[in-house]
Amino acid sequence: MQVLFVAAECEPWAKTGGLGDVVDALARALGRIPGAVDGQVEVFLPRYASVSIPARAAVETLEITVHDPLAPGGASAVAIRSFQAPGYRLRLVDFPDAFDRAGFYGDSAGDYSDNARRFALLGRAALETRRAERRPVDLIALHDWQACPVALLRDLAYADDPIVGGAAISLTIHNLAYHGWTPRDRATQLGLGAAAASAGDAWGIDLLREGIRRAELVNTVSPTYSREVLNPAAGMGLDGDLVARGDRFVGILNGLDEELWDPAADAALAARYDASDLAGKVACRADLLARVGFDPADPSAVLGVIGRLDPQKGFDLVAGAARRLVASGARLVVLGSGDASLLAGIRAEAARAPGRIAVLERFDRELSRRIYAGADLFLMPSRFEPCGQGQMIAMRYGTPPVARRTGGLADTIVDLHADPTGGTGFLFDDATPEALAAAVERALVVFGAADRAPWQRLVARGMAVDWAWETSSAPLYAALFRRAVALRRAARG
Ligand code: ADP
Repeated sequence: MQVLFVAAECEPWAKTGGLGDVVDALARALGRIPGAVDGQVEVFLPRYASVSIPARAAVETLEITVHDPLAPGGASAVAIRSFQAPGYRLRLVDFPDAFDRAGFYGDSAGDYSDNARRFALLGRAALETRRAERRPVDLIALHDWQACPVALLRDLAYADDPIVGGAAISLTIHNLAYHGWTPRDRATQLGLGAAAASAGDAWGIDLLREGIRRAELVNTVSPTYSREVLNPAAGMGLDGDLVARGDRFVGILNGLDEELWDPAADAALAARYDASDLAGKVACRADLLARVGFDPADPSAVLGVIGRLDPQKGFDLVAGAARRLVASGARLVVLGSGDASLLAGIRAEAARAPGRIAVLERFDRELSRRIYAGADLFLMPSRFEPCGQGQMIAMRYGTPPVARRTGGLADTIVDLHADPTGGTGFLFDDATPEALAAAVERALVVFGAADRAPWQRLVARGMAVDWAWETSSAPLYAALFRRAVALRRAARG
């Protein structure tokens, strides 16, 4: 099975959140499972301004011409720069006019107005690359809306093509909140010509919806989230389309790349540690506290928060709970990037509580690792959460999560009070500051108890969970891809 991925993010080249982590880790894991794919997965990714090609990489460049409705003459020259990434072949779509920008999706003024063109070009470049190479593809794995133009292109522009027309498509929804809404007057950007009229609705084209309707199989990234989104309350307007796919829409829980996220080998940490000896975690805690200007000698609990600044992540709930948490003796270290206005509430609380709340607004891989390692608890009060990587990373780093019982958080965290011998964290139900604060207070009781054994067992259980992609998630994707290929072959006779 020849598999290629089309995605807008792939760590370490381009990441704003879990999408980048998952595309990278899944591509690598599939290459490691004997027989899962022919050779390696190829990952097509835009070459954004921030993507740097390693000096040592042996880069092969392929020049192709792609249909580009906004270009004079209707076509543009694009360079595909391919090299070996750890465990897969990375194929950067190098087209400065579309991708050589500071943002992936937009800037402070909002989303780029030519996103439909940009991401249609990404998908078209992937198809044209394989055509130029005369290498048929069996399965194209689309990740989120940015990849969904491929489904439209396959059906409306390449259906009869011998190289890519027969390819099966799977769509993995990492986040249902973003659809790639393309108003009618921008639909020409997709380069589908008159065929665009047959796609979407009167107002325009919802790219994610097109992907959901056209892919042979659709999945999202946890079983609980896959059930939640079948209802209007969580379906973001696409619940009807997902229900309509019946058993062709499934949930596959994400794994975690246990080599990239390993406190025993993490170069960003002040000291390394594992479950058999947590002395290094104590050093990481002191290091983190010194870096953010907190008193390292103060034993009170340190609560870490890391995430994209998006209403989804519940930073407002943290702000609303902050005063009560600080009154309970806790301290907060908050790292976020995105819509800075979402930090205003926490900043106001930080001004009231010097030395108790640190707010860091930036994307900082190293600091994130220091927080996962140095905090005592990790907060994830998400309003919805398709899967979440943060809670898994926190558990692996010995930092029990306090999270809302939603989506993948419900599938990956076992509440300590519901299961005293199997618990790995603390869950709460209501998306309110009160419910968050009450769950943290439950955790603080265990954290601060004179008998340290229950806390230590909680930490040890979280560190012992097997998140490896190769164990269950990646084999489930391989089976999903095989099923998609069989469905496509059957449909085409
Ligand atoms: P989402 O995909 O919704 O953003 P996840 O929990 O699945 O949420 O993944 C978030 C990933 O992005 C984690 O690896 C997390 O550490 C990282 N991350 C989020 N915000 C930041 C930031 N400001 N700095 C560094 N890493 C971040």
